[in-house]
This record gives sequence, structure tokens and C-alpha cells, in this order.
Amino acid sequence: MLLPTFGSSQNQGQMEPTEIINSLAEDREAYFGAVAPPIIQTSNFAFRTVREMREAIGGEFIKHVYSRGNNPTVEILRKKMAALEHAGDCLITSSGCTAITLAVMANLRAGDHAVCVERCYSWTRHLFTEILPGFGITADFVDGYDTMALKKAILPNTRLIYLESPTSWTFGIQDMRAVAALARKQGIITVTDNSYCTPLNQNPLDMGIDIVVHSASKYLSGHSDVVAGVLCGSEEMVARIFRSEYMTFGGIPSPFDAWLMLRGLRTLEVRLERSTSSAKQLIAFLEQHPAVERIIYPFHESHPGHSLARRQMRDGSGLFSVILRTDDPLAVERFCERLRHFLLAVSWGGHESLVLPAVGLPATHSDSGHGLPLNMVRIYAGLEDPALLRADLEQALEEIGMKYV
Ligand SMILES: *Cc1c(COP(=O)(O)O)cnc(C)c1O
Repeated sequence: MLLPTFGSSQNQGQMEPTEIINSLAEDREAYFGAVAPPIIQTSNFAFRTVREMREAIGGEFIKHVYSRGNNPTVEILRKKMAALEHAGDCLITSSGCTAITLAVMANLRAGDHAVCVERCYSWTRHLFTEILPGFGITADFVDGYDTMALKKAILPNTRLIYLESPTSWTFGIQDMRAVAALARKQGIITVTDNSYCTPLNQNPLDMGIDIVVHSASKYLSGHSDVVAGVLCGSEEMVARIFRSEYMTFGGIPSPFDAWLMLRGLRTLEVRLERSTSSAKQLIAFLEQHPAVERIIYPFHESHPGHSLARRQMRDGSGLFSVILRTDDPLAVERFCERLRHFLLAVSWGGHESLVLPAVGLPATHSDSGHGLPLNMVRIYAGLEDPALLRADLEQALEEIGMKYV
């Protein structure tokens, strides 16, 4: 798969994603020519001499000392993810939330202020509203479509701007090039959650963003069997976070989970392609269905961020939301429960197609209440036969549409 490149990259002479995924950082001769990478399930590493030991402990960012810092299986993944995101380096974490917490806490101190995009991931919001105030850090939330509103929210003590483009329920888009440029001028660090796009569909570092975080629990690992995360940035930024917060908070995944991610990454290109193409087929069916009021998808013409999405993303993905034409939350519940193939579950990015209705969230979700319309359902198109998925939606929509048809 050949990807168009956007803007200047930190890492000229990049490898193609296919090559990164297949061979980068895989020293097969060192492990019997094995095609699949090894799981080095060890907590610690032995040295022949005291001098070697001293040097390794002094250079733990790249040396093998103890698996809370660096482990050979995790390191293969680390090198691949850094290359895929056009980053100087990266850290693999035990969850997306660990990556988010590291990126944010490593760059804020008591007295600092952050600006965060409205409708970001719920636990990101919790970090800013519930945890950081206890450390003397404040935050304001702004509508990310409006770069001017974001600019106005910047205070003299603002040190960090947190973006998520697109957000994962309403798919709000932020102009990353514009935000990065205005933040740079004022010495403010920018962080973006890139879980929706994966590095195949968007590379925020190329647009001037300082740190990219991912929930690898979604598309990157891709099989609904791992919780993990990724943090990417310049080598200097990543080394600083490694030597302090990463080693202290202890958020590295196990070698086995890193191996599952490596296995998932091998098929990322085909999985993302299939999921995206199925989502587009389902959207084409749903948008003309009388029981569907509106589609919310960044690559749909009706989306307010559509043209901006096309400028900074290579494609949409397999996740979108629909507003059903009903004011009866029980009809939405019946629709979800009548689906035979789509599972009712949080998360996305695996083999299985999923639905997550707003009525499935408790009213208290995300601190201030989720604020989503109760006739909204988030749909993830998985890897199954799209004709089967379409037929399933069609039969379940009978719960909504009868009186309108
Ligand atoms: C799932 C998710 C997270 C959190 O990641 P975990 O791996 O579950 O900790 C963060 N951001 C987005 C957009 C997500 O979808």
C-alpha cells in the first residue's frame, strides 16, 4: 500500500508501511530464522561484567536491563510504531489511557493550564477534570472545530493543548496544522489521540503535533484480545518521558501482549481496508433508510468537518454513528437487542461488528453526563461479510421505522 505523504516529516526517507510491518526491527537470523518474532518472556537480563552492567543501567532507554523499561519483544513493536507514525521514537504502554496519562502528566506541573477538545475520550476527560486539579493543574474544554475559540481559551499559563481528531462518538475534527502552528509560537505542547485513524490514515507529527497517542486496543492489535497503548514523539521527548514517568509509573505491557500486538499489526492494512469499505457500504444503505435520520462519519458529505477531514486524513475508518428517527429510547434498545450479528459492546477495531447505543451509557458517564442524544448509536463495521451485516441492520431497523415507512 502506497501512502501519500503530507507536509514535511521528521523522518525523511521513510519506509512503506508494508515494509515496516513485515521486516523493520526483525533480526530473524538472531532467532533461528523464525518468521514470527520471539516472545522474550523475562523480567531481567544478565551481564558478563560489572562494566557492561553499569553501562546498561546508565543507558536503559535503549539497553536491556529490566522489562519495566525495555524488553526485546516490546522493542520490535516500539520500532515499528515509531516508523509508522514518522516519529523519532515511541513508547509502548499497557493501555491507551497509560499513554494519554504519560503524555499529559510529563508536560504539566502545578500552576499550569491545559486546553482540551470537547467530547474527547471519557477517561481523558476524567484525567483533566478529576485527577489533575488535585495536583494544581486546571483545564478548559473547547469546541475543536473552531480554532479561534481554541486560541481564545489559551491563558498565560497554558502549557498543553490536547486534541482528538476525530473524536470517537461524534467524530469532531480539529485543524491540526493550524493548532500546532499557534501552539508552537507560544511554546505550548500539543498532544493528539490518533486511535480512530491509525498511522495508516493520519500522521499528526507531520502536521506539527508534538505527541501522538493511541489506544492499541482498537485497530492496532485488532482482535479484541489486548489492552495496550502507544506514545510517539521526537526522540528527545520520548527519552525524557521514558527516564521519568514511564519508568516510575510502570506502564509497559507484558512481552506476550506486545507479541499479540505484533501479530495484529501484520494484518492492519487489510483489516483497516475491509472495515472501512464495509462501513461505507453500510452507510450507503443506512443513509437512504427511512428509519435513519442522520449519519455521522468524517468522510460523509453531511459532516461539518468533511473537507478538513479530507485534507488531513487519508480515509475514514470502520466506525461511525447514526441518529435513528425515533424519540423512543426503548425502540433504540429493541433495535440493538434484535441485531443477531452485531454485538452490544464497547471498544472497536476487532473482527466482530459492534453497536454501542447512547442509551447503553449511564447518565453519569463522563463526569458531566455524556450529553449524547438518546437516539444515537455508534456502529463498528468489523471484518464479516458486509452483505450479512447489512441484512442484520435491515431486519433490526424494523423496530424503529415501522410507522414512518
Ligand atoms: C479506547 C480509547 C482510549 C483508551 O484506550 P485504552 O486502550 O482502552 O486504555 C483512548 N482514546 C480513544 C479514542 C479510544 O477509543
